[in-house]
Amino acid sequence: MRKYIIDDAKRCLQCQNPLCSKGCPIKTPIKEAIALLLESKLFDAGKLLFENNPLSLVCSYVCPQEDQCEGHCIMAKRGNPVFISAIEQYISDYYLYNYKPVRSHRNRGKVAILGSGPAGITIAFLLAKKNYDVTIFEKHDQVGGILRYGIPEFRLPKRIVDKLMDTLIQSGIKIRPNTTIGSNLTVDDLFRDGFLAIFMGTGVWQPRKLNIKGESLGHVHFAIEYLKNPSVYRLGKSLIIIGAGNVAMDAARTALRHGCEEVLIVYHKDKSGITATEHELQYAQIDGARLELNKLATEITDDGVVFADSEIYLDETGHKQARAIPGTEKLYNADSVIIAISQGPRTVVASSTTGINLGQNGLVVVDGLGHTSREGVFAGGDVVTGARTVVEAVVASRKIAETIDEYIVKKTDAL
Ligand SMILES: Cc1cc2nc3c(=O)[nH]c(=O)nc-3n(C[C@H](O)[C@H](O)[C@H](O)COP(=O)(O)OP(=O)(O)OC[C@H]3O[C@@H](n4cnc5c(N)ncnc54)[C@H](O)[C@@H]3O)c2cc1C
Ligand code: SF4
Repeated sequence: MRKYIIDDAKRCLQCQNPLCSKGCPIKTPIKEAIALLLESKLFDAGKLLFENNPLSLVCSYVCPQEDQCEGHCIMAKRGNPVFISAIEQYISDYYLYNYKPVRSHRNRGKVAILGSGPAGITIAFLLAKKNYDVTIFEKHDQVGGILRYGIPEFRLPKRIVDKLMDTLIQSGIKIRPNTTIGSNLTVDDLFRDGFLAIFMGTGVWQPRKLNIKGESLGHVHFAIEYLKNPSVYRLGKSLIIIGAGNVAMDAARTALRHGCEEVLIVYHKDKSGITATEHELQYAQIDGARLELNKLATEITDDGVVFADSEIYLDETGHKQARAIPGTEKLYNADSVIIAISQGPRTVVASSTTGINLGQNGLVVVDGLGHTSREGVFAGGDVVTGARTVVEAVVASRKIAETIDEYIVKKTDAL
């Protein structure tokens, strides 16, 4: 492993104009980190990466590097990019397990973070570093959001999320698990108790429905629920997955590792509409999943799913839609069905208080700096953008941490 990483690092040309960093949403200082690694300054390389992105190690596992740093690396034009993800993983793993977090003095006021996914964890680290008294309120019993309850273990080892949690605690951040803000405690309670600012990083956890007959039957599940804890499901031998995004691919690959023998992924348009990355689709197929295109689910029965052939038309906004061709319906047998057609936000935080405006789709409306329409409440990550990526949540949170800091400084100066 070490030899291979070093050999690959030595392939880096230390470009004057490093396209790898330009292609990275968080502008990871890749060439500088590689240079430090080759000078045997592994800790310094890790510090550089962590200070730029506290989720550097997570990103090294789950970012779509083929479209980002590695896809842009100059060596990719010669057919073989520097294997940046593996180098970042090596450096950041060492750093996360060896650095000693500095504990927040907690003397600059209280900040509440709703949600402990990538958005919440990033803000928590950055504000603790600025000596705020940070509390994370998390609905689930463990921190991590989708990192813990969505992305499967074989793609992101949970030991990393555990380590992040330890690091949050060592940084002086308080964590309240099993606490859904908006259900019992509300935003108003938090302001009453002295929190100066509240960050909503609550993600998108409401599975979208197909709205067809049979969706409530006992052998039908939503992918986002299934992935929370796959070992409690008994799916049988054959499974149909409806939808072809990355979540569908994770569900397929997980099911194949939990006893399903036949997994069929069915998508209602042609391949060009598939939102999963080519990489994820290929892995699902290598794992044994099959893909069927241009089939629209019309009904779910106890025996499986009825699909019709679909035809594409343009709706009034010019978007491609699929409709069933009458008379082509056919039953596809399966023991279980998983629906994986995206997620939307739950609106419990906004609906339990006043003044937080939501868009038509239920996402929180913010300005370019992360302010919501309610003073003192900020939002970022998927709950603002809809389902996106880990690195995008981190980028947003880096900016919003500065916004919150400026807001509190102004507020306390005015007192
Ligand atoms: C199955 C799956 C696989 C994915 N794979 C990848 C990948 O490989 N690479 C990638 O870059 N992205 C991937 N993504 C997307 C990525 O995980 C998300 O974009 C990212 O997690 C968004 O971070 P977040 O902090 O905004 O939200 P989340 O990770 O969703 O975290 C939100 C947190 O808020 C908590 N919460 C919600 N409501 C409340 C409340 N009222 N009170 C308190 N807590 C609350 C939730 O429990 C959760 O812990 C994947 C998504 C899914 C679903
Ligand atoms: S683009 Fe590739 S070769 Fe150039 S600095 Fe980045 S990793 Fe090194």
